[in-house]
Amino acid sequence: MSSSLSCETMAIKRRKTKVIKIGNVSIGWHYPIAVQSMAKTHTKNISRTLKQIKSAQEEGVHLIRVAVKDKQDAHAIGEIRANIDIPLIADIHFDYRLALLAIASGADKIRLNPGNIYKEKEISQIASSAKERGIPIRVGVNSGSLSRGSAKGASGLVKSALNFVKMLEKLKFYDIVISLKSSNLLETVEANRQIASKVNYPLHLGVTATGLAEVGYIKSAICLGMLLADGIGDTIRISLTADPAQEVRAAKRILAALDIGNAIDVIACPTCGRCEVDLIHIVKDLEKEIKTFSPSLDVGQEPLRVALMGCVVNGPGEAKCADLGLAFGRDYGLFFKKGKPVKKVQQDKAAKFLIAEIKKCYLKSGGNDA
Ligand code: SF4
Repeated sequence: MSSSLSCETMAIKRRKTKVIKIGNVSIGWHYPIAVQSMAKTHTKNISRTLKQIKSAQEEGVHLIRVAVKDKQDAHAIGEIRANIDIPLIADIHFDYRLALLAIASGADKIRLNPGNIYKEKEISQIASSAKERGIPIRVGVNSGSLSRGSAKGASGLVKSALNFVKMLEKLKFYDIVISLKSSNLLETVEANRQIASKVNYPLHLGVTATGLAEVGYIKSAICLGMLLADGIGDTIRISLTADPAQEVRAAKRILAALDIGNAIDVIACPTCGRCEVDLIHIVKDLEKEIKTFSPSLDVGQEPLRVALMGCVVNGPGEAKCADLGLAFGRDYGLFFKKGKPVKKVQQDKAAKFLIAEIKKCYLKSGGNDA
């Protein structure tokens, strides 16, 4: 690599929205972007669902959603909620009575699909029940199930959401979050840009059906990256054909890469003929080690950027935006902070030294070493 990373701080200006409370998590405007995932189990299988939620929690998920497709699922909400300490969202399709049951069981938020729950009388009952319990409703529009009469494409997604929002507002219900998702990236971006200019409710971002993790990461990073960089988005979910823990890891990496998350962002050089070590293995080992203590970073902490560079000639300079890092010489690791050399450490002890330094920063910023 020949050019250095620029260290100019480009702060993202978040869109000013209404603030909505989901259980003990506030979203919108200046509140940190919350990471959401969804259990892939049958919700009524409480032990399996709890196991999956806990694994997502270990990665630092802030909000978790479960599918409610029958009465047993709706009843399971109570027991699941009692055993977790993050807000639980009930995902409802087709049957408005399941929404009523889920609310009564203790859901912290309801997601409704305007494509299959649209009768004013039914929505009125859900809104009054949600209002009574003080919980929000997400108007979750998917390109595959737009409300009747909506056109296709981005404007169809927007129209579908706005019709539903108007109905809720007519019922004097304003505790609203909106999501517009499509498997087409540009359509998702355009729809979210349009809705962001029309209403001030918080937006939940995601791309539907992205595929296996490797492809899903890329699609989600492109789409959500474009929106987040514009200041649009208050909660995110990376929908992957993979377990929720992987979704959470991907979400945190996207946020960290944009300097708006709370993860430890490991950057590494691509290596070249100047590289003095087996950098791929060093990076993999570091990532593995970080995973053991970083996931429970609190919402709102600043990301910490850690660099691993293959040579001391260009390494520190090329990674001067990193908070701290190592550049490798033939038999030593040069520990540096913000590009400035601090100390030479024997090569086989360098990674351990770096971990100790990361932990120092991490604990200073309020992380949990548990
Ligand atoms: Fe850049 Fe050095 Fe890494 Fe080569 S080995 S890519 S010069 S930091």
